[in-house]
Amino acid sequence: MQVDILIVGAGFAGASTAFHLSRSFPGSILVIDQESVPGFHASGRNAAMVRQHEEREDIRRAAAASRRAYDEYESELGFRQVGSLLLGPAKRLEAMREPGLIESYLLSPQEARRKVPLLDGHDFGAALWTPADGIMDISALLQLYLAGSRERDVSFLFDCRLRGCRGTGPFRLDTTQGEITARRLVNAAGAWAPLVGRLAGASRVPMLPLKRHLFVLGRVPGVNLHWPIVWNLADNFYFRPESDGLLISVCDEGETESLEPTVDADMTEALARLCWSKLPHLRDAVQERVWSCFRTKASDTSFVIGWDPALENFFWVAALGGHGMGVSWEVGRRAARKLLDRTHSDSFDPDRFQFALRP
Ligand SMILES: Cc1cc2nc3c(=O)[nH]c(=O)nc-3n(C[C@H](O)[C@H](O)[C@H](O)COP(=O)(O)OP(=O)(O)OC[C@H]3O[C@@H](n4cnc5c(N)ncnc54)[C@H](O)[C@@H]3O)c2cc1C
Repeated sequence: MQVDILIVGAGFAGASTAFHLSRSFPGSILVIDQESVPGFHASGRNAAMVRQHEEREDIRRAAAASRRAYDEYESELGFRQVGSLLLGPAKRLEAMREPGLIESYLLSPQEARRKVPLLDGHDFGAALWTPADGIMDISALLQLYLAGSRERDVSFLFDCRLRGCRGTGPFRLDTTQGEITARRLVNAAGAWAPLVGRLAGASRVPMLPLKRHLFVLGRVPGVNLHWPIVWNLADNFYFRPESDGLLISVCDEGETESLEPTVDADMTEALARLCWSKLPHLRDAVQERVWSCFRTKASDTSFVIGWDPALENFFWVAALGGHGMGVSWEVGRRAARKLLDRTHSDSFDPDRFQFALRP
C-alpha cells in the first residue's frame, strides 16, 4: 500500500490532525493504530475536563481557541458547561488571567464554597472562576474527528502496529498488517511517541510518559451534577461530579518503565491522605473505580507539533500532557497548517530543543 501521509495513532492527536488535514490536503491520508478501537489509551481514559486557564500562555491561547470552536458543534458534543474553579494563591491565579480572551472572575474562598459546599473545611487562598469551562463527552469529540475524516476519504487501519521504518520519505514501514510506503510520517503515538521517533531514527525530542490515576468515589453527600470542576494548584488535586459521586485525582505523575496502565496500590493511600488532611467531607466516601493512564510531557511542558529538525518528512504531534483532549481542536488545526505550509512556525516547533540529536 502507498500513501502520501501516514499518521501513527488514532487518539485525539492523530484524529484531529487527520480531520483538519483532510479539509485542504488533496492527497491520500492513512491513520493506523495498534489497538482494535480508536481512543483506547489516554484519549479514552482521561478526566473529560475542558479548561482554558493554563500557566503557559501558548497552551492557554490554544485552549481558548479550541473552546470557541466546540460551540459550533454544540449539539453533537454533549458538552456540559459547568464552569471551573482553580484554587490557589491569588497572585498565581491573577497571573494567568487574560480578560479579553477568557471570561473569568477572581473569587474569595467564601464565594467559591457557595458554588461547591464540599470545600467547607478546605483552606485555599482564592479561586479563579471560568464559567465557559466544562465536561466533554470524549467519545463524541473523538467521533466528530473520525467521522469528519472518513467523510473526506481518510482511511483507517486498526490492529495495525508500526514496528519498523526505513528511509526518509518515502518511508518504508513495516507494520503488523504488511508493508506500507508513505511520503510523510506523522508521529501521533501518545505515550509511544518517543519509541516511534526512535524506530524512524528521528531526533530525540525530550519527552516522558507519566502515569496518572483517576478514582471515582461514591456516597458523597450532596453532590450536584451542576457543580463546577475544582482544581487546587497548590495542593495538587482535582475533582468533578460524576453521576452521584465524584471523579477525583491526586495529580500523581509516576515515571515507569512499562506503559501498562496498571493501578499502583499506594495511590489509594495517597487519596485517603488527601481526604483526611484537606477534604473532610470525603472521609467516608467509597472508592468505586480506579484506573490509570499516561500523560506524555515534554521537558518544558509545552506541546511538540512540527517537522523533525533532523529527519526529513517526519512530523511530530505529541507531548500533549494533561491538555490533549480539551485542546485537540487547535492541536490538529496547527498540525495540519504546518504539514501544508513548511514555513509556518510557532512555540510548539520541535526545533526549540537545540540539543536534538540524531541517534
Ligand atoms: C488520567 C488522565 C487524565 C486526563 N485528563 C484530561 C482532561 O481532563 N482534559 C484534557 O484535555 N486532557 C486530559 N488528559 C490528557 C489527554 O488525555 C491526552 O493529552 C490525550 O488523550 C493524548 O492524545 P494522543 O492522541 O496524543 O495519545 P493517545 O490517546 O495515547 O493515542 C496514541 C495512539 O497511538 C497508538 N500507537 C502507539 N504506538 C503505536 C504504533 N507503534 N503503531 C500503531 N499505533 C500506535 C496507541 O494505540 C494510541 O491509540 C488526561 C490524561 C490522563 C492520562
